[in-house]
Amino acid sequence: MVVVKRFARLARIWCVWLGIGVWLLGFSAVSWAQGTLRVGFAQADITPNVERSTVWIAGYGHGRRAVGVHDRIYVRAVVLHDGQRQIALACADLIGLQYQEVKRIRKHLPEFHYVLVSSTHNHEGPDVIGIWGRTPMHYGVDPKYLDLVVKRTVEAIRQAQARLEPAEVLYGTAEDASLLKDARLPLALDPVLRVLVFRRPQDKSLLGLLVQWNCHPEAMDSENTFITADFVHWTVSELRSRYGVPVAYFTGAVGGLLTTPDEMKDSSGKVWKPGQWEYTALYGVAVARLAQQAIRQARPLRLVPFAVAAKPVAVPMHNPRFHLARSLGVLRREGRQWTGDPEQLGPVVPPRKSVKQFAVETEVACLKLGQLWVAAIPGELYPEMIYGQYQDPVEPNVDFPQAPLEPTVKGLFGSEPFLFIGLANDEVGYILPKRQWDTKAPFAYGRDKPQYGEVNSLGPEAGPVLMNALRRRAQELGAPGTR
Ligand SMILES: [Zn+2]
Repeated sequence: MVVVKRFARLARIWCVWLGIGVWLLGFSAVSWAQGTLRVGFAQADITPNVERSTVWIAGYGHGRRAVGVHDRIYVRAVVLHDGQRQIALACADLIGLQYQEVKRIRKHLPEFHYVLVSSTHNHEGPDVIGIWGRTPMHYGVDPKYLDLVVKRTVEAIRQAQARLEPAEVLYGTAEDASLLKDARLPLALDPVLRVLVFRRPQDKSLLGLLVQWNCHPEAMDSENTFITADFVHWTVSELRSRYGVPVAYFTGAVGGLLTTPDEMKDSSGKVWKPGQWEYTALYGVAVARLAQQAIRQARPLRLVPFAVAAKPVAVPMHNPRFHLARSLGVLRREGRQWTGDPEQLGPVVPPRKSVKQFAVETEVACLKLGQLWVAAIPGELYPEMIYGQYQDPVEPNVDFPQAPLEPTVKGLFGSEPFLFIGLANDEVGYILPKRQWDTKAPFAYGRDKPQYGEVNSLGPEAGPVLMNALRRRAQELGAPGTR
């Protein structure tokens, strides 16, 4: 009996321990499954030394040499961790970092599930593509500067990773079409600013902000010779000083062509114009005010777990100007033999070599972060492809009136919250709806010459190839518009 009693007592103790064990196991299984979001922010200075080397400013004509620095330019990074996987989102104050540099950055960060590096599309920073050198024949990039950008971006991501801490997130939007000007017909823009607000779960104190807005950073215009982050400098500074937290700024759909308004008025009613520092500051602060509105309206959102669908894609290059720039060594980028299938990459074509059927290798990604969708497109998307504001009926005299309409971001994600990151991992130029393509006379809208846009695009297939790739990536993640 004693033995039985003792056994019963032992069994009871074991049962209690087993119960605690099961409870602990269950608890950890639950918390593992739900995941705990952690976030970290950091930035790194990527201002070139204009005294020590010749710096060509990118964005307008060639031969614009930097004479000084007005404000420092940065790469701003956010690292997110869902308990199992970590991803990095970074954005640099540059015209458009190319895919080969993004691949170099990723090589240094092997433990990351995904690294996305985009650019604000700054028109007042150093050339990182090549076409803005001394003359159209001269390469405008300092390769040492590219090395610095790669190194500093890795450092910013590493620092953000070291600062990971538990977070909860809110998502907000605010809209203001008066802050944008569409310089090309038909009129279509994305007037929505999107924001992610990160805060500490225990005391709700702010941790950092991620802002996405859709305008060319070119408020300082074509005559400026000082390095600056353009209006983004004032947007980020204003938000940082107001909330006292890091701010990561991302650029959305700016193709076709989304720019700042013709004028800005200060508090005394005085009018300022593009190219003036006051104008640029006023515009940057106005974007920050719109962000504040989005922050006030932000609602909680679950951001875990993470799923990423990303794949290289080939886009056929028809633009004769780009072919010429490649043969001159002004565009130094390897390519691929075009196979006819965007997802079948052909043999590598080294820089300067040319082949008849040439394609650019780039990448399209779709991320599902909990309840949030993120579309990542490697260039300047025409906002028509965000909401589907396609002109209907089609404008007479366009080159491809029968071209199928591309899938749209809104069509893929439905009413679910999303971010759209343009110039993601690359800058391949303008991405037009194929039905808008217009290089052959007679021209649309009764014009006697073509509209601006096609001259900076890979070709009429860029729109359909990239948006259909986005559709496939979104489908892999079960996006509502693909079910
Ligand atoms: Zn542009």
